[in-house]
Amino acid sequence: MPKQTQIAVVGSGYVGLVAAVCFAEMGHNVICVDNDERKVSALQGGDTLIHEIYLPELLQRYRNTKVRFMTDLAEATRECEAIFIAVGTPQSETGDADLSYVEAVACEIARSITSYKVIVEKSTVPVYTNEWIRRAIERNGVARDMFDVVSNPEFLREGTAVSDFLHPDRIVVGADSDRAAAVLREIYAPLTSGEYYTKEDAIPGPCGVNAAPPLLNTSTKSAEIIKHASNAFLAVKISFINAVSNLCEATDANVEQVAIGMGLDARIGPRFLRPGIGYGGSCFPKDVAAFRSVADQLGVDFSLLSEVEKINGQQKKRFLNKVRTALWTLRGKKLGVLGLSFKGETDDIRESPAIELVEMLLAEGCSVKAFDPAAMERTAERLPAGPNLEYVESSYAAADDADALLILTDWAEFAKLDLKRLNTALRYPIVIDGRNLYDPHAMVEHGMTYISVGRPTAN
Ligand code: NAD
Repeated sequence: MPKQTQIAVVGSGYVGLVAAVCFAEMGHNVICVDNDERKVSALQGGDTLIHEIYLPELLQRYRNTKVRFMTDLAEATRECEAIFIAVGTPQSETGDADLSYVEAVACEIARSITSYKVIVEKSTVPVYTNEWIRRAIERNGVARDMFDVVSNPEFLREGTAVSDFLHPDRIVVGADSDRAAAVLREIYAPLTSGEYYTKEDAIPGPCGVNAAPPLLNTSTKSAEIIKHASNAFLAVKISFINAVSNLCEATDANVEQVAIGMGLDARIGPRFLRPGIGYGGSCFPKDVAAFRSVADQLGVDFSLLSEVEKINGQQKKRFLNKVRTALWTLRGKKLGVLGLSFKGETDDIRESPAIELVEMLLAEGCSVKAFDPAAMERTAERLPAGPNLEYVESSYAAADDADALLILTDWAEFAKLDLKRLNTALRYPIVIDGRNLYDPHAMVEHGMTYISVGRPTAN
């Protein structure tokens, strides 16, 4: 029987909340802390506040039993052996990660340490953050042998966060102390031993994968770099295929065929070779900027990342040009928009390229009827409905009487629309798809003018 650890998770957002219920699912006892009282009482009452598959079930299963929610970090620190910091590390004006939330939490933990604690960086942080956390805790009067700081970066993706957490490709534990590494190994033992996957009601993996993940022990600094390097590399892959898709458009080649041909090379692999309107979300943009900034500060030339960012920015402008090319002029055009979240199956709109495009279209004088299965409420807080912006209840309502329909987010349900009904709803049967969700020939067969990314227009 694996040991049950008393775990505190500080920050109950996309990462912290998912980590908390998943640790409970793995058998541990968890205190989930947030300084947002409204959030804590909603979670205590069973409201997840975010859209994430399996989260409501797990919250229901463990809420107020194996997972308790509170605002009191001092109490959580006293009760728990391992304290995971999962607060935000947003981009600052200079491009660096803003670590003020992490620092505030580290200092607060320090003031309540009365026995040995393992303090875990779960948030994405730049290299050397573990040393700053250690210094902050020591400055608050805690003896060096009373705590260790380890890095355990999180690789979950929104939309499949719970499955990703419980079925990770790898678990990275960066620790410079054997004692702390052993605590982390114990926490993850239900996964690394494979025991969790024998449970009858185990949460299934994102692609039906059920293999026990490897746990990689590294130095703390290596682990910090692994997370930034992984996200930066994925962003490189996206910008690379976007640049290739632009070349395909210039030559009438088909980026889908090119991606298949590239991906069959085992060194390249087929995943993350889908062109679109550019990456967004709360991680890639800020993590690429932070990694570039770390390299700059250390005198290392990583200008590759500036190019990645440049291509990413251009991709949205290219999409806007596609709309312009399809409709001639934009002022006064009525557009249906499908998707507002930064990717499908999540309500997260942080750095969403879809919303940036809606803003660009409104600035061009278009009027927009937008639909998103989960992100409309959040978007309306940022972009309130008005004479030129309406939020509607279905994809067909967005298409109703529109001059064209734009697909901006890859929600699975947007790939399964009734094309006949869509055609009837649209004023002109023009679909401009920034996510390549449809087969161009099928669209033409349904009478649509269909424009996508990096693929020739079918006739
Ligand atoms: P989030 O904004 O959803 O959640 C952060 C939470 O921390 C909020 O609920 C906030 O109220 C709370 N918080 C802030 N200061 C606090 C304090 N002093 N005490 C207690 N709570 C406090 O952020 P997120 O998306 O969960 O990301 C958290 C970290 O994980 C970031 O570093 C991010 O880069 C990283 N990460 C995110 C993802 C993702 O897909 N969202 C994936 C991997 C890693």
